[in-house]
This record gives sequence, structure tokens and C-alpha cells, in this order.
Amino acid sequence: MATKVLIVEDEHAIRQMVTLALSNSGFEVLEAGDAELARSLLLNEPPDLILMDWMLPGASGIELTRSLKADKVTRDIPVIMLTARGDEDDKVRGLDSGAEDYISKPFSPREMIARIKAVLRRVAPHATEEAVSAENLTLDPSSHRVCYNDAPIDMGPTEFRLLHFFMTHQDKVYSRSRLLDRVWGTNVYIEERTVDVHIRRLRKALEPFGADSLLQTVRGAGYRFSIGPNPHAAA
Ligand code: CA
Repeated sequence: MATKVLIVEDEHAIRQMVTLALSNSGFEVLEAGDAELARSLLLNEPPDLILMDWMLPGASGIELTRSLKADKVTRDIPVIMLTARGDEDDKVRGLDSGAEDYISKPFSPREMIARIKAVLRRVAPHATEEAVSAENLTLDPSSHRVCYNDAPIDMGPTEFRLLHFFMTHQDKVYSRSRLLDRVWGTNVYIEERTVDVHIRRLRKALEPFGADSLLQTVRGAGYRFSIGPNPHAAA
């Protein structure tokens, strides 16, 4: 599961440089030359992060970022704005688009990738390839493995993604619809009870290790992954 980055930039040369650098570092790249194409791309195939040039033909990068941040379906996608150095830089920051970070042009591919990784670690750890653990459970996205102590646990790809999301968002409660948005994607139309089916499968996979209790049902609210006790457990 490569991390997917959408680059929104009308300057072909910069887009090409960014795309090349990202692909060489193992990212999957989507490209858009204007705001309109960016919007349709990101609804069809939600990226893990957006690199957004602030000067675009038509709607500006700031306008697009603001509208994405105002929409509950897209607001969780981190945005890094690409700006020019100097006054413009300050102006863009002052306009407060809701972007997670800013990179001034010209920038090196290395700097860009470091900043992307830092933002992902901070706001979207489920989109990185870093291993996560909770108690004796370890999930490694790069090898696509889940282990309890050293024993491998078998599970399907959806259960794997679900568990990865939960392990990178511990102690927070997620409703079924929120899980659908975050784990299945915003443009997928499936029923909420599908979530329950995969939660059941995931618990079944964890059960032999006694780790199914980490995945808690919060009545009337949804699900939560926690190594703590479940205060909402049914009596
Ligand atoms: Ca531009």
C-alpha cells in the first residue's frame, strides 16, 4: 500500500520534478494542473496527502484548500502548500488556508520528502509505512504483517487496513460512517453494516491471542481501539 500524494501545480516542470522524486521514494503520485481536475481526482481516489501550489489558474490553491478543509469528507487529508519565498510566503501563511505545512520554492526533493513524512507522521500515521504496536501486537505495513509477540496473525486486506487505522488512532471512538470514510475511502458506497462484518472478522483473527478485547464496542457511538479497559462495555 504505497502512500498516495496528489500534486496540484500548473507548472509542468515542477510537477514533473515532484512526481519523479516521489515515485523514486516509493510514493504513488496523482497529478493535477488545476483546481478543477484536482477536485475530481481526489474525490475518485482520495490521496493520503496533497501538495498544493498556491498560484493556480482558476481557483487558487488557498481557495481550494479552504473548501477541502470545510468539507467533512476531505478535511482530514493533510495539505502542504507550495509557495514562493519572501513576501508571498508570509502572505500565504497570513491567509490561513488550514494547510498543515508550507514549503517555499525553490525546494529540494529531499526537503520536500522530509516535510511530507513529518506531516504524515503527525496527522496521518496510518498513511506511513512505519510499524506500530500496542501491548504485544505489532503491525508492519511494509511487510504487511501482524504479529502477536512473534506469532504471525492471518487476516484479510480490509481487516489489515482497519487494524492499521485503529492502531494509529488509539483511544478514539469512530462511528461506522467515519470508519467508512477513513478506511474504505470517501467515494465508496457501501453499507454501514459492512463495517460490522469486518470488525467481526478482525476480532476473530485476534481472538486466539486474546487481543480481540483491544477492539472495543462503544455503544451508540462506534468502535475504539484501546489497551485500557472499556468503560462502555455491556454488562
Ligand atoms: Ca503555479
